[in-house]
Amino acid sequence: MANVYYASASDYAEQTLTAALKKAFLPVAEEVGGIAGKRVMIKPNFLEWKGADIPVCVDPQLLLALCHLLKKQGAAAIAVIENPAVKSAPVIVENMGIASQLAEIGVEVKNCSEYKFVDMPENSAFRRMEIACEYKEFDLVIDFAKAKTHAMMTLTLAVKNLFGLIRGSERLGWHLAVGRDFSRFADMLLDIYMLVKPHISLVDAVIAMEGNGPGSGTPVALNFIGCSTDGVALDASVAAKMGVNDLLTVQRAMARGIFQDFNECGDVPGVKKITLPDPPQLGLEWGVYFPPRLREFLRRKMVAKPELFAERCVGCGVCAKMCPPQSLKLVDGKPVFKLNECIRCFCCQEHCPAGAIISRKTAFMRFADNFEKFIRKIVR
Ligand code: SF4
Ligand code: SF4
Repeated sequence: MANVYYASASDYAEQTLTAALKKAFLPVAEEVGGIAGKRVMIKPNFLEWKGADIPVCVDPQLLLALCHLLKKQGAAAIAVIENPAVKSAPVIVENMGIASQLAEIGVEVKNCSEYKFVDMPENSAFRRMEIACEYKEFDLVIDFAKAKTHAMMTLTLAVKNLFGLIRGSERLGWHLAVGRDFSRFADMLLDIYMLVKPHISLVDAVIAMEGNGPGSGTPVALNFIGCSTDGVALDASVAAKMGVNDLLTVQRAMARGIFQDFNECGDVPGVKKITLPDPPQLGLEWGVYFPPRLREFLRRKMVAKPELFAERCVGCGVCAKMCPPQSLKLVDGKPVFKLNECIRCFCCQEHCPAGAIISRKTAFMRFADNFEKFIRKIVR
């Protein structure tokens, strides 16, 4: 049975954060034998720094407070290692305005660089992966995630955060490999999590992101941090606080027997239903008796699609560069989607700097949604 610790935090003021970390992080640190004398690696979510008002990354003040606390607890070395989408980790902390403070307390900040092919553990869904292996050099690995919506996986929390250990170009390859099979994608994320097995997972949900996440959503104050030795349990617990009880990574972890039950401790927050992106795929429960070919046809129609907000598009071309199957091309400075070749990875939506792409339910999905609600009402 895992413990998930919560602490409330109404803002990112230093005192608030130090108190919150003592309440939620230190008991977890004790569960793994303390910090003193250990070399600690933090893998934060540094997708892209868009400014203090847009919660794309973990909050810089919380990262700083964590490093101060680790230092105070006697960490022998602290490194922040990440592989951001566009800029390098040192540039991100510079832009965050905390580079000199981190340097003062001796925190090393660098990009992932030691990529190696590794054989995956026996119960993995995939055999071999190329992954940044710096984590093996540390005594304690902290998976430090931001609570955000995600067009493909609904939410990005602790498990999804470790996808950043895959080389940028390879991430596109994984999207290509799993295509529209979101369960396979969730399995791949779980494989990475099980391989790295971070000692501590920490989620920043003081100001989380709702709507068009993970890069262009809207801030939503949830006012808590959550922490656990078990990132899957932490994700299940935090997702439920955000109104999501069917997170695919958690469902797959349950199906694969790698989910353990958990206790919630500390300032356990209530449920605050956030605005989610349209689900990438609808279930087809009511079509269970349809012939297989019809079910397959319907299944293909039930995948949300990327859609452009033309007035927000600045014609930068990032979306076309990030599209794994190159099914999106820039025509006259605007993206045009070839939906029959699109694998619905939503990399274009994730990386668009202008928030000009959203995931949108197809007309068929909206019809199916309403039809299912109607049927449920009748048979209730
Ligand atoms: S990344 Fe966004 S802003 Fe840039 S071309 Fe694509 S849709 Fe337009
Ligand atoms: S168009 Fe967008 S969602 Fe479709 S494959 Fe390309 S990047 Fe992925």
